[in-house]
Amino acid sequence: GSIATLEDTNDIGFQAVEVIEGASFEAQPVAPGIWYRLALGGITGHKDLARDTGVIVAPSDAVAVADAVIRIFTANANRADRNKARLKYILDDWGFDRFLTAVEEKLGRRLVRIDAAFVAPRPAYDRLAHVGVHRQAQPGLNWIGVALPVGKLTVAQMRVIAAIARDCGDGDIRLTVWQNLLISGVPDARIDDVLANLQAAGLSAETSALRAGLIACTGATGCKFAAAHTKEDALAIAAHCEPRMTLEQPVNIHLTGCHNSCAQHYIGDIGLIGAKVPVNEEGDTVPGYDVYVGGGYGVDGGIARAFREKIKAEEAPAVVEAILQVWQGHRAAPEESFVAFARRHDIEALRALVAQTGEAA
Ligand code: SF4
Repeated sequence: GSIATLEDTNDIGFQAVEVIEGASFEAQPVAPGIWYRLALGGITGHKDLARDTGVIVAPSDAVAVADAVIRIFTANANRADRNKARLKYILDDWGFDRFLTAVEEKLGRRLVRIDAAFVAPRPAYDRLAHVGVHRQAQPGLNWIGVALPVGKLTVAQMRVIAAIARDCGDGDIRLTVWQNLLISGVPDARIDDVLANLQAAGLSAETSALRAGLIACTGATGCKFAAAHTKEDALAIAAHCEPRMTLEQPVNIHLTGCHNSCAQHYIGDIGLIGAKVPVNEEGDTVPGYDVYVGGGYGVDGGIARAFREKIKAEEAPAVVEAILQVWQGHRAAPEESFVAFARRHDIEALRALVAQTGEAA
């Protein structure tokens, strides 16, 4: 399976696709093979995913097209208003046709558009694919996905990772959108060394279905905008839920500290966004969250719906557990994903099911 790159969540998304035989543009045949599908206007913190433009771009042309898109944006967008200074807003204002025409004028040529029927379906995402030992296309070589608890690494661990990549791999370290990293080019004979060195540094190439998709922004520990300690609370959620359930399928739980949405709470299966929770009439507050459910990306792309407001941070583990238990107990079949289950229910029905677990909805 492929690894999600979240291209649909970006202002400019290039999604690698296979164009199949028979595609044409302006009566000319389009060469089959790997192209990028161009999607524009993603900004999940503003509840929008990038939309397909119908344009495909040859890999060798991607930089020129991105350059032209950015130049049209910077020359024409409303950059005086911070809340509107994103590609989505000029696209909403102009429409795709006018914007793409401007890009073509900047490039001095037409962009290739093809019927979606000539794009091969993408393989399903394997959400655990980025962790563990995997064979590369090159014989005898492997890439190893290292699980980092909510993306945190000490300086000593960074040095170990760098040494492993240099001594046992091809020197590359690749960061994943799920706050983990990959070491590539590891010969078969060095895999055990890599795993042993990781373990000695307190790291691992294994993780649980819950921790693989557990994402947290910097949070109150390092960011002045945060209304909660997202990384610490994420780990508390994992520590609470893991002994209480066995997840056969990954779920994405995203904790974001504020509306800047660095951890993309609107596209997590379960998304939490920092909120100051009032505790008395005097206006005192404690850190906490608003909770969203049913977001997704890629083939499951969609914005999560508000489930519950202003829970204290210490309540978050039990609330997340209750939501997951409801899914595990009420899904139509063992294969039904969380996002499919959540979208099959209206929010009131989900709240009622969660309330039955004894957790106040
Ligand atoms: S989402 Fe907000 S709190 Fe979290 S890192 Fe981004 S700006 Fe800071």
